[in-house]
Amino acid sequence: MTEEQVKKAIRDIPDFPSKGILFKDLTTAFKEPSCMKWFENELYKRYKDKGITKIVGIESRGFVVAPILGNRLNIGFVPMRKKGKLPAETVEISYSKEYGIDTIELHKDSLTTDDIILIHDDLLATGGTMIAACKLAKKFNVKKIYVNFLVELDFLDGRKGFDEDIEIDSLLHF
Ligand code: AMP
Repeated sequence: MTEEQVKKAIRDIPDFPSKGILFKDLTTAFKEPSCMKWFENELYKRYKDKGITKIVGIESRGFVVAPILGNRLNIGFVPMRKKGKLPAETVEISYSKEYGIDTIELHKDSLTTDDIILIHDDLLATGGTMIAACKLAKKFNVKKIYVNFLVELDFLDGRKGFDEDIEIDSLLHF
């Protein structure tokens, strides 16, 4: 499987969820075992020597590949979820989206000051979600934060809002 073949397996949906947005639909790649293997192997190569202790996936499209990498690295998976979904005590952060405010949460006992974490989501657009996710993780005073996306939309320049101490990497660029 080549990078170009995986890119071709991602389907474009014009005007979803609203007019003017070209939605990158990864479900067409997720259903191909060869694409999933490629995601797993590429991520493993990039992160195997970083000393990562936990992988945090962002609800919900970040839940697809994050646990697969967690298993390969022999580390645990931590879900970061929309407000009201996690059952135990949580720490939360709110951030503005195009329409209104969103809140995301982590369980209070999910991360410690000894953790080196990788936060994963499927796609970097404007960066709003992941920047908030990093701020939330910083409330736990973790040792280091890596950030990863399967896809980055370069023209939106989503990287510009991140703190400099955060290492960002994307497998595919459009
Ligand atoms: P953002 O906070 O703008 O970086 O948006 C990131 C989140 O919205 C990710 O979790 C993506 O799943 C989703 N998203 C935003 N724009 C797109 C797009 N053009 N295609 C697919 N997913 C998108």
